[in-house]
Amino acid sequence: MSRPAALFAILALAAPASAQAVRPRRLLVVIDPGHGGARVGAVGPDGLREKDLSLAIARKVAALCKRELGLQVLLTRTGDREVPLAERVALANRRHADLFLSIHANSMPTARARRSTRGIETYFLSADPSGAAAAALAERENLDDRPRARARRQGDVDAILDDLTLTAAHADSSRLAYALQERLVAATAAPNRGVQQAPFFVLTGARMPAVLVEVGFVSQPDEEKLLATPAYEDQLAAAIVRGLADYQIAVAPRTAAR
Ligand SMILES: [Zn+2]
Repeated sequence: MSRPAALFAILALAAPASAQAVRPRRLLVVIDPGHGGARVGAVGPDGLREKDLSLAIARKVAALCKRELGLQVLLTRTGDREVPLAERVALANRRHADLFLSIHANSMPTARARRSTRGIETYFLSADPSGAAAAALAERENLDDRPRARARRQGDVDAILDDLTLTAAHADSSRLAYALQERLVAATAAPNRGVQQAPFFVLTGARMPAVLVEVGFVSQPDEEKLLATPAYEDQLAAAIVRGLADYQIAVAPRTAAR
């Protein structure tokens, strides 16, 4: 991992200097463990809770990002507490983060689908979902938001995608999603459910590349067992960090020229 670390340092040097910043700064990644507190997220047949799983993986990703890539890392929550969806991305915007990564686990609604459906999906923001399943997933993940905030933000997705200042970040979100998905599937041999798009509130308004990873289905009994295994969580976290390294290498020339 020494080569990606060196590239991150070069990137930081090439970043546009603000008026007062003369020393290079380390890139900042905001890692967002889904749900928390009363917002439990999906729950598996054996009782694995999405909020606990997302936090466990997020902590591992954070540690590896610091150790292997020399990145600065900020978690949107470090414990089991509720954080409104809008505050998560607002934190990343306020801190001028370079990347935003939300970690979740998936679930199927019907008994039949719960038995059979497993695998990994990575999402970036779009007003138009990739399909009915993506739309249903975004709806479920968006339930954490309070109804008023939800109504307001639904209309915002279109407007935000029209915002020219966000266009570059949006294109990079797609590239980041592919980099992560590729590494996750290669590391785990989990079914590849692809990079998809959906209107996730937690990604809305991000002024940096932002993606949401669904690391697996807690609703599928075998995958739930895997996801509850610390060694498998280590594998997922390591794959995410490799994906981050790949992504930075891929966008280096464009970012440097900006
Ligand atoms: Zn979730």
